[in-house]
Amino acid sequence: MSAAPNAAINAVQNADLHCHSTVSDGLLTPAEVVRRAHANGVDLLALTDHDELGGLCDARRTADELGLRFVDGAEVSVSWDEDTTVHVVALDIDPDNAALAEGLAQVRSGRDERAREMAAELAKVGIHGAYEGALRYVGNPALVSRAHFARYLAEQGLARDVKSVFDHWLAKGKPGYVAHDWATLEQALGWIRGAGGIAVLAHPGRFRLSGKELRRLLGEFKEQGGRAIEVLSGAHSAQQMAEFARLAREFQFAASRASDFHGPGESWVDLGRLPPMPPDLTPVWALFS
Ligand code: AMP
Ligand code: MN
Ligand code: MN
Ligand code: MN
Repeated sequence: MSAAPNAAINAVQNADLHCHSTVSDGLLTPAEVVRRAHANGVDLLALTDHDELGGLCDARRTADELGLRFVDGAEVSVSWDEDTTVHVVALDIDPDNAALAEGLAQVRSGRDERAREMAAELAKVGIHGAYEGALRYVGNPALVSRAHFARYLAEQGLARDVKSVFDHWLAKGKPGYVAHDWATLEQALGWIRGAGGIAVLAHPGRFRLSGKELRRLLGEFKEQGGRAIEVLSGAHSAQQMAEFARLAREFQFAASRASDFHGPGESWVDLGRLPPMPPDLTPVWALFS
């Protein structure tokens, strides 16, 4: 982000620091995401496509036209502790950093093969053509994700909506799930720090970890240079927001505010529609350069 006087950053009222565009698994183009955020009253926005920086240029140009403060971001897929997938949001990164770009390219490179394996697993339970079907929903084939499979399976009437497709077909333990090696936590945090960014643990309430495992993850994340966690997340219940506010205090993490918006009708909350930050927490945007 361009150098901002602290007074301006302290005046932020409606930050949204996690959302997706058609560059990964969102439904709106980067420019459309920015326009919608602006229309919703967002005054500090980060676009954080999965493992990809390709939307940042268009998003920033649109934000500049609208006078909306914009931060470059990405959501990095990480494998932690053998077989748990966790997501780390990178904020305020240099989008031209070569090591970050190479690292993300490496993370993306396994997606196509994984998608073919997912389709083969689904074929075993009688669901055919899922690879081709998912690709119809993808803007950027290198970024084919479970969200694209979910849209195809929902279209085929295999679940009542995109969310329940995950519960029946795509979540861990279900027929279409294929384990995958993403970046290690150490790699992801190294790339983010190297690109001058802040590493934020995304939607920690979604990882289905025991209390003990969660604390171990938070400890390792902190040790390796993680600075913040998403306290206010579209994926969190009110109770989880309170729980992660407590954990942010205990572990001395800054706190982020993050819709994780993917598109109208497909997301928990719309851009910017989150509760205010608890006043005693350090907002992650206070750490931006
Ligand atoms: P992938 O990176 O291919 O494993 O896909 C992960 C994406 O699938 C997430 O970023 C969400 O967009 C979507 N997703 C995962 N779990 C769910 C769920 N339970 N309900 C709705 N969308 C989900
Ligand atoms: Mn997604
Ligand atoms: Mn995520
Ligand atoms: Mn996300």
